[in-house]
Amino acid sequence: MRNARIAVIGSGPAGLFAADELVRQHDVDVEVDIIDRVPAPYGLVRYGVAPDHPRIKAVIGSLQRILENPKVRFLGNVEFGTDVDRPFLDAHYNATIYATGASRDRAMGITGEDLLGSRSATAFVSWYGGHPDSPNDFHLREDTVAVIGAGNVALDVARILAKTAAELDSTDMPPHVLDTLRDSRVRDIHVICRRGPEFAKFTTKELRELRNLTDADIIIDPAELIGAPREGLDKATLANLAVLEEFASRPRTDRTHRIHFHFWRNPVEILGYEHVDGLRIERTELSPDGTVHGTGEFDTLPAQLILRSVGYRSVPLDGLPFDSVRGTIPNQLGRVVDGDGHVVPAQYVTGWLKRGPSGVIGTNRVDSVETVASVMEDLVSSPEPGTSVSADAVDAALRTRGVKVIGYDGWLRINGDEIERGRVAGKDRTKIPDWDTLRRLGHEVLTSG
Ligand code: NAP
Repeated sequence: MRNARIAVIGSGPAGLFAADELVRQHDVDVEVDIIDRVPAPYGLVRYGVAPDHPRIKAVIGSLQRILENPKVRFLGNVEFGTDVDRPFLDAHYNATIYATGASRDRAMGITGEDLLGSRSATAFVSWYGGHPDSPNDFHLREDTVAVIGAGNVALDVARILAKTAAELDSTDMPPHVLDTLRDSRVRDIHVICRRGPEFAKFTTKELRELRNLTDADIIIDPAELIGAPREGLDKATLANLAVLEEFASRPRTDRTHRIHFHFWRNPVEILGYEHVDGLRIERTELSPDGTVHGTGEFDTLPAQLILRSVGYRSVPLDGLPFDSVRGTIPNQLGRVVDGDGHVVPAQYVTGWLKRGPSGVIGTNRVDSVETVASVMEDLVSSPEPGTSVSADAVDAALRTRGVKVIGYDGWLRINGDEIERGRVAGKDRTKIPDWDTLRRLGHEVLTSG
């Protein structure tokens, strides 16, 4: 049987599902090195899934089993582009699968986007998710926040802002984040949706979850729901409309927080001199092609913090082609292709980097199966399978470059420390949000006696 050593860049669900699929192959005996710049695995499941969604995070249990397969190694604290590059990977592995996701926010291209107080939801999510790259620069001294976008990230952000300390205390958020949220002055959260409710990308489960907020009213103008045609809509959209109608029919109470949904409102300018003080929005109506156009009626919404939640985009990777319009790496069934449509040998993509930021965690499994099928087809059909070296040789080459790898054992020390911090605080976990501590724990050498 043929042997192969394959590098997977990125240890989020897409990368781990690809690793799992690789080691299940029968025609080729595959060993996988999963390379991640962060010393902690699980990517967006660890840093992007909302901390108050422990059930979604429970997928970590199955992802962990993938990492524990003896044919899979985790090489954390290793950055593509700095510590390793394409020539290094080409020299040491038969193939590389890139699964670096989509970590940047999409720009809206409106005036005022760069004002102080105009932030991406991506930055807010990284902050509350305890990502070590995230500076501690959300203070939540504002009383009114506008969240732009009608997707699940907008809902995550609005929900976290509307929760009380009691609702958040049991989460794994770092202590400085919990302190800021506990002292938050935010009262009104406006979710701005440029199209009608029937086009919103919220999932019904996430919308329904807003019913459980203990100290927040959900405010929707029933008039904004009336126009939505019911014929031809799928079940999920009809279910969304039913939840929104239920919210719209509820009497307003004197709860501390309010989440206001605004449909048919396109943000056209973020207002303010140096700092945001409002959002100019134009009413919209449907065009025959399903997009919307402005009606020429404008409103100003006062807000001191704007969180732009209009989708993610991937970061280009050195030495690989990039489609800057779609924000993905061009590919055919996971095989990277260049600007002329030619396959770039031994380079593959999976996950959001391959298809764009859509779908649920499980979508990445299907995606990775497709990519791995391409990898295997190429490996098996190739008369000259290319070079790969032993795990020891990879380690030696990384050492020569001065790369201080944090392996799975290092991650287990970090994990143990987070669990212990959580235990002290009476919960399952408290996340460590800084590079120094992650690296110190990851590199710690246990001495006996
Ligand atoms: P998304 O679902 O693509 O939603 C982006 C939203 O931004 C859309 O409503 C879009 O409106 C709007 N938008 C785009 N450009 C805009 C502009 N210039 N002005 C105003 N609005 C604009 O993206 P996401 O919320 O970032 O979520 C990414 C993926 O992660 C999705 O697949 C999502 O389901 C998933 N996710 C899942 C969960 C969960 O399951 N709990 C949680 C978080 C994220 P149009 O439709 O009009 O373009």
